[in-house]
Amino acid sequence: MILDRQIAKNRIMGRRLCENDNNHPNNIYIDAIKPNGDKCRVCGGALTTRNDDQDEVAIDKRHSIYYDTKTGTLASAYYFRDLAAKAGIKYITLAGEKDLKSVTNELVSKL
Ligand SMILES: [Zn+2]
Repeated sequence: MILDRQIAKNRIMGRRLCENDNNHPNNIYIDAIKPNGDKCRVCGGALTTRNDDQDEVAIDKRHSIYYDTKTGTLASAYYFRDLAAKAGIKYITLAGEKDLKSVTNELVSKL
């Protein structure tokens, strides 16, 4: 999954928790689950944020590890991508900035 670092950060920081049910998805940066103003899009409940979702320093630190193509998580992903190519094994890359349905369709089409 390829996802722009700023979009990934926005998705974390944009998450909102419903006071009635934490399983009600709300995110101010994802159109499909955007809250109704400051209320839950599912039930109209009040929304809050998780403290760790708003910790920009922690998010940046974790993303620096993930997006590091020399020694980070992406380095291992690229290692296996190259290994798969040498072995003739399919390695699928998906564009993560799209909506869920588009990502699902892209995945199914590449299987
Ligand atoms: Zn709700």
